[in-house]
Parts: sequence; structure tokens; C-alpha cells
Amino acid sequence: MPSKVVEGIILQVKLYGEADLIIDFFSSQWGRMRGIAKGAKKSKKRFVHCLEPLNWVRLTLFEKQNNSLVRIDQGELINPFPGIRKDYKKWGQASYFCEMIKELFAIGDTNESVFELIKESLQALDQGKGDQEIFNIFQIRLLKIAGYALFLTSCLGCGKKAEAIDDPLFSLSQGGVFCRGCLKGEKGISLSPGTIQCLRQAVSMALPQVFRIRFSRTMGEEIEQLLQSFSCRIMGKELGSVHYLRQLQENYG
Ligand SMILES: [Zn+2]
Repeated sequence: MPSKVVEGIILQVKLYGEADLIIDFFSSQWGRMRGIAKGAKKSKKRFVHCLEPLNWVRLTLFEKQNNSLVRIDQGELINPFPGIRKDYKKWGQASYFCEMIKELFAIGDTNESVFELIKESLQALDQGKGDQEIFNIFQIRLLKIAGYALFLTSCLGCGKKAEAIDDPLFSLSQGGVFCRGCLKGEKGISLSPGTIQCLRQAVSMALPQVFRIRFSRTMGEEIEQLLQSFSCRIMGKELGSVHYLRQLQENYG
């Protein structure tokens, strides 16, 4: 039975029995995985501060054939992202990243770009400013990887270039922009041409440089509203971290 070493970001930790932990994580090479760390609640040596949500870790795994639950024998902490842990808002945003990955990717789904995206997004959130931009850019890019790219180049009805549309509307049901004459049967979300341009950059620029993008106030509001509604539609519900972030906003501004 082979053992292997993987890097991963821990998405969720659950206590199992008295001392075992079930760890949900996204690994660099094997995608989304779930493993059991026997006795991890008591073992100080094998998992030093390692098995906590959001940690970037290196895990030694033992994989049984025909079993989706791997055994985690050892863990080593690479980065606990301390800047996120001491900031309630960043913590909520990072938790949203984990929840969204769990909604869009099943155990066994492999995709290297998901690992790169969450790792780079957590690093940017940990180190820098521009929390809102990082939060939104993560969402747009993860949706694209999951097969829900926003269509922003031209009107989905008549093909008119997006930059030439006077008053573009985004259709939640069709995931793309329309001109006013072409969108039928739904109201659509109004987006300024600058916002469309900015969203296109947010998808096309390389990581981690993309996190240098800054939204104007109007762009930020439009993008936030669009992504909240679109993500909710794709996932069929509002995620728990969204409630948490809203409560923070209401209580602390
Ligand atoms: Zn049109």
C-alpha cells in the first residue's frame, strides 16, 4: 500500500469519536480529498498545530484502494496565514473560499488551478490590502474553473461588442451581458462599462498580479451585487459565511 506526501489547504476539520479528526482538504496534485487522522486530537508530535481550517500544510497520506477516505499519518505546517486569523473579516472571507470550493468540487475532483487559486488568494489576503478585490476575484475565477465563466465580451443576443453597448445588463439566468433591446423576460443587473472591463481583467490577468486590481466604489458595489446573486444562483443557496460577513458589516460597519 503506497504512502504519499501532498501539499494542501485544509477546508474543514471535524471531530470523529473521541480523538480522531476528519480532514477535508484540497491538495495540489490529487484535488479535493478527505482523510482521517487517527488520534490527532491527542497526538502533539505528528500534527503540530497543523490540522486547522485554512492552514497550508504538507500531509503524509496512506491511501487504501476503493476507499475515498485516506489515512493521514503525519502533517507539517507550511503557512497558517496569521494575518487572516487575527482579522474577523478576512477570516470570514477565507471561510467563504473554503465553503465555495466544497460546494463546487466533489471529493476526488482534481484541478491544479483550484489549489493555486486558493493558495495565492489566502497569501494575498494574509499579506495585503484590497480585501474586497481579493474576495471577488477569487469568486469570479473559481466560478470560471468550475465551468461558470461570466460571458462579458459581447451581447449574448446580437453580438454587439460589450464596450459599444450603452447601458449593459447582466443576465443571471444566462451568465452574460446583453444590451437593453436583447434581454427579454428578466430585469438584469445594470453594469457600467468600466465594471465589465474590470471583470474581464479579473479573469484574464495572471496570479498573483491580478490582486493589484483596485475597484472604484461604484465598481465594487456592482461587482459585489452581481457575484452575490450569481453565486447564489449557481450554488442554489447562500453560504453560511455570507451571513457571518453580513453580520460583521451590520455590527461594525
Ligand atoms: Zn444585443
